[in-house]
Order: sequence, then C-alpha cells, then structure tokens
Amino acid sequence: MTGLLDRFGRRATDLRVSLTDRCNLRCSYCMPPEGLPWLPQPDVLTDDEVVRLIRVAVERLGVTEVRFTGGEPLLRPGLVEIVRSAAALRPRPRIALTTNGIGLDRRAADLRTAGLDRVNVSLDTLRADRFVRISHRDRHDDVLSGITAAASAGLTPVKLNAVLLRGINDDEAGDLLAYALAHGYELRFIEQMPLDAQHGWTREGMITADEVEAALRTRFGLTPDPGPRGGAPAETFLVDGGPAKVGIIASVTRPFCGDCDRTRLTADGQVRNCLFATQESDLRTALRSGADDEELAERWSRAMWMKKAGHGIDNPDFLQPARAMSAIGG
Ligand code: SAM
Ligand code: SF4
Repeated sequence: MTGLLDRFGRRATDLRVSLTDRCNLRCSYCMPPEGLPWLPQPDVLTDDEVVRLIRVAVERLGVTEVRFTGGEPLLRPGLVEIVRSAAALRPRPRIALTTNGIGLDRRAADLRTAGLDRVNVSLDTLRADRFVRISHRDRHDDVLSGITAAASAGLTPVKLNAVLLRGINDDEAGDLLAYALAHGYELRFIEQMPLDAQHGWTREGMITADEVEAALRTRFGLTPDPGPRGGAPAETFLVDGGPAKVGIIASVTRPFCGDCDRTRLTADGQVRNCLFATQESDLRTALRSGADDEELAERWSRAMWMKKAGHGIDNPDFLQPARAMSAIGG
C-alpha cells in the first residue's frame, strides 16, 4: 500500500471526517450569528456512505486515526452507529471526536461503548456571560456538563480546546489552565485562523502563541515536553515540572505544515488535502456513480498528492478558502 503520499514526502494517516456543517453555536471566529446556508440534505453523505469511505481510507490507504468533527458532530443522529462501524474496521483505527460538548452528557457513555477512544471539547471561557458573547448562545452549563460526562464515561484524558480573542477572553489563559489542572483535563490553546465565514480575522486581532505562553508563565512554570511531537500540531509543555501538560497550537505564527499528516473529508463527500485548500476532490459523485473501492482509493490518493507545501497565510496572494471552518471540519 502506498497510502496517502504527497509530493513533499508526507504521508496522511490522520483522517478528519466532518459529519455535518450545522451547529448549535455561533462562535464568532467560525460562523456569523445568523448562521450559514447549510448544505442541502441530499448532498450530505449518508451514514453508510461515510462508513464506506472511512473503510476505504483504513483498509486501502493506511489511515490509522479517525476524528469526527463538523459543524457539531453530536447533531448527527447516526453518530454512535458510525463510531461503532469505524471501530469494527481492521486494522482498528483510533477514534476521536471534536465537539462543543452540548449533548455529550446524554451520549458520552454510548459513544464510549461504541468504541470512541478520545474526545476534545471546545471551551474558550469559564464565564457564562463571555460564553454568550463568543458563541451567541446561552449554553455554557451544557458544555461544562458535557465535559464532566466525558470524563465519567472514561473518554480520558479529556482534552479541551480554547481560542483566545483579544479584548474578550484573552485574560483567561491562566484560569483555563488552572481549571484543566484541577480536573485532570489536557488544555490546548489554538491560534485563531483566517477561516471564519465573515472574513473578520486580522493578524493584529489574533492572540499569538507567544502571548499565550507569556500569560501562562506569569502563573505556571512551563518546560518543553521532552516527548516526541510527531505530526501533532500542539507544542506541549510540562506544567510546573509535570506530569500535567498544556499545548499551544501555533498554526499561524509557527506553522507545522512540514509534518502534517492530515486528510479531510467534508460532510458532502469532498476530500480536502489541507484546512486551507482552495480546491477539493469530489468523492461523492464517484461513490454515487458506482465507483468501486479501488477507484475511490485512487481518487483520494491523487487528491493528496497535490497537497501544497504550506498554507501560505503569510503570502501576499493568500486566499481564504471558500468554505468556513464549520463546513470544512476543524
Ligand atoms: N463544533 C465542534 C467544536 O467546536 O469543537 C467541532 C468543529 S470546530 C470547527 C473544531 C475546532 O475548531 C474547535 O475547537 C474550534 O474552537 C476551532 N475553530 C473554529 N474556528 C476556528 C478559527 N477560525 N481558528 C482557530 N480555531 C477555530
Ligand atoms: Fe460550532 Fe464548533 Fe464553529 Fe463553534 S467552532 S460555531 S461550536 S462548529
């Protein structure tokens, strides 16, 4: 098996599957308050189609890790069954979920039983008023109960993702880490990327990895994690000598494209070879026109071969992708 190689020698083994472009929040760095025109339902892959493409990726293309995302993946009615089917594949992939946590309290145990290994829950603030300001929905309590339920269900270590926004929650780096440490969660800060539908991102508005690190150092000792980083996007630090860790994902200021091992499938069956790709490869049409597994695998490989060396946010001719983060699958 040659797998999902590109022209620069990278091999994609980590598949991000977006299960829906819909969401019950409206985080300002992702979607406008009024939402977006959702994908027409007939365009969205059925559960069987999603599972078939994951099977092709695992059995024929060397994918070893499958992460479900969105939009909000917990809004997908068939999620538990999709996870169960992915867990039945051989070689069994590791299975993870990125979610805003709303509704996780009701489904964490079923997801665990179905084969989910790990979960990342997005939590940008510990303050309910700020949560409303960032996400335009009053659901902070639901997110917190989702996080607790994930830990109780054994989806550990629970990872938390936080995006800091200037003048809104950028004074919470230390408090978020203290909260994560107190509960045994692993926190990662993500630099805000130009992927919001409103095109409101500015470099000046972004809280940089350096700023996050400096803020954390006023309260905690941080030492670089001696463990291997591999293709992981987060730079990790031991907190106060360890074993607790904190991660910072400096996608913009310290890009890690050279080590990227990702491939992405959108809810409407398009392969994206990069979060920032401006072109996609349509697997849905091939799938629905009767392509066999071999042809689907070949199309997927061809799409990955064309992956660019880097995202090019710093290039003067950088073009933000037409799809927003919620429709790509973060
Ligand atoms: N709805 C789920 C959630 O929020 O976790 C999954 C999808 S969301 C697009 C995945 C991750 O992308 C979240 O942690 C979110 O904070 C992050 N994200 C969304 N827009 C972003 C942006 N413009 N820059 C950086 N991270 C972003
Ligand atoms: Fe929804 Fe996640 Fe985007 Fe927030 S970041 S609007 S929770 S998809």
